[in-house]
Amino acid sequence: MSYVKALTCRECGKDFPKEALHVCEYCFGPLEVSYNYEAIGKVLTRELIESRGPNMWRYRELLPLEGEPTVGAQVGFTPLVKADNLAKALGVSELYVKNDAVNFPSLSFKDRVVSVAMSRAKELGFSIVSCASTGNLANSVAANAAACGMENYVFVPHDLERTKILGTLVYGSNVVSIKGTYDEVNRLCSEIAGRYGWAFVNINIRPYYAEGSKSFGFEIAEQLGWKTPKHIIVPMAGGSLITKIWKAFKEFEKLGLIDEVDCKVYGAQASGCSPIVNAVKAGRDLIEPVRPNTIAKSLAIGNPADGYYSARTMRDSGGTGEDVSDAEIIDAMKLLAETEGIFAETAGGVTLGAAKKLIERGVIPRDESIVISVTGNGLKTQESLEGNLEEPPVIEANIADFEELVNTSGKKYAVKG
Ligand SMILES: *Cc1c(COP(=O)(O)O)cnc(C)c1O
Ligand SMILES: [Zn+2]
Repeated sequence: MSYVKALTCRECGKDFPKEALHVCEYCFGPLEVSYNYEAIGKVLTRELIESRGPNMWRYRELLPLEGEPTVGAQVGFTPLVKADNLAKALGVSELYVKNDAVNFPSLSFKDRVVSVAMSRAKELGFSIVSCASTGNLANSVAANAAACGMENYVFVPHDLERTKILGTLVYGSNVVSIKGTYDEVNRLCSEIAGRYGWAFVNINIRPYYAEGSKSFGFEIAEQLGWKTPKHIIVPMAGGSLITKIWKAFKEFEKLGLIDEVDCKVYGAQASGCSPIVNAVKAGRDLIEPVRPNTIAKSLAIGNPADGYYSARTMRDSGGTGEDVSDAEIIDAMKLLAETEGIFAETAGGVTLGAAKKLIERGVIPRDESIVISVTGNGLKTQESLEGNLEEPPVIEANIADFEELVNTSGKKYAVKG
């Protein structure tokens, strides 16, 4: 049974049927899924949610399917790690890492949006799925399509990390590499969607896709013991995830599953592609597109579809935006790995790097709860570390060479105790 009321225009409020639509035909505003909260409130309780399996479908009443999910039944419910070592390093008292670096099956939060989008695409009768991707979406569409036997086409900019290309090809996906930026790939895909009638998960069925991100927020609130953190830092590409975490918190509040939301939301981008943060810092509503130039390729969207709404989410919640240089991204990736044993991709470096700056500037206080959103796995962006880590010494396989190393290397390899 579905609790979806309609697709509703975010600008003029007009309702549209639950089909493969994404823009309002009256004002061109984006469409968003709206629900019958009164009916959901009658059935959805903490106890019911807690009685269900450890995956994102434990919140199924708040996700936009008509029937049971047919794609990604095991996605979600990733760890919320109490990060005491990192807290100490940053000088804060209560810190958590929401770790979607280990999301199933493709090791990024994109599995959440793809499982909803593809399940809905099947309900709507599509047989071919597709996407424009900065890398992680490609991995996820390819993996989930393979698992459910759907033909799929994946479009990416030609300069992606090698691992993200190989990690898409391996599933037998039809990958097309485009000589251009993500924004150019996206424009081409809009044309293809119109002409071929495929389900582009993040274009023509975007309203359903985007709802999957809410599960990231639902899980954080549940895992914190049914409350929101005081501060959450979220990486932004198209700017959808950050708006949906906020929507998730607000829905839980509306349904009485948590008390009043008391949480500031901060958006993080790389300085080499920070159109949303630029606007927030300047106090502007208008997002000025940029041409991306950063190692954080998964976030390299120069003309973000939800830029305006993500800026508003930060402002409405009392948060703000911050950007970090490529060097700061690498430093933060190393800091997270060295303190918590979590290997995040470049986007994780962006998020932690931005959090660190906001804490140091006194914008985020040191004595309140903070959640850092890790959305992708470091094994997929290893080349960003090339030349940034000290290489291991190479010795012959004998004890004399090892002792020589211990005695001459100074502190690093000196035998302790
Ligand atoms: C896609 C992506 C994001 C951001 O998603 P948006 O909803 O487009 O802002 C964040 N982190 C990673 C690793 C991603 O792949
Ligand atoms: Zn409208």
